[in-house]
Amino acid sequence: MKLVFATHNDHKLKEVQQLLPDYIELLSLKDIQCFDEIPETGETLEENAKIKANFVTQTYGLDCFSDDTGLLVDALNGSPGVYSARYAGEQKSAQDNMVKLLSELKGEEKRSAHFKTVIHLNLKGHSYTFDGIVEGTITQEEQGSGGFGYDPIFKPDGFDQTFGELPSATKNAISHRGRAIQKLANFLKNKTL
Ligand code: IMP
Repeated sequence: MKLVFATHNDHKLKEVQQLLPDYIELLSLKDIQCFDEIPETGETLEENAKIKANFVTQTYGLDCFSDDTGLLVDALNGSPGVYSARYAGEQKSAQDNMVKLLSELKGEEKRSAHFKTVIHLNLKGHSYTFDGIVEGTITQEEQGSGGFGYDPIFKPDGFDQTFGELPSATKNAISHRGRAIQKLANFLKNKTL
């Protein structure tokens, strides 16, 4: 079964590919010759996920899913949230975003936060949403260089290492995206039985 994952991010594509059953043939935006930067103009993760999946389904007539993720920090009332990618500016630099977040939290003791992923799936004329959350804390400084985005400063609850230090298999098993994709995978499995 062919399914488009509306992403230009090869790192994410690999992560998600590892989590889906083999009978699902994942196609990236590159695979379908879509080189557009789909505008993420929504004010919520749900809206942005829907905009991206609908763009592909409406433009190419293909079944598709997309995800949108945010890091929600409690002491900052849920920021950066839907603006996580461009928290420190339109250059969308992971390094700049981490520096900004650490500086916003300087001297702050309450460092709890969570990642949330929302997936929007368009399949055979119907649409479905799935979400996944991982709770954790923001560290005082960067630890590790694995993963991407805010991984080096996010320590998931129950672990002594950040997502930037943990093996990718461990991250995939407990992460926001991993959990949301797991729900998608279970849904697709039941659909095709
Ligand atoms: P996206 O919706 O997956 O593109 O995520 C938006 C932004 O959230 C990214 O640009 C990253 O800054 C951050 N982000 C998303 N997923 C992760 C993750 O697994 N680890 C760290 N940061 C992430």
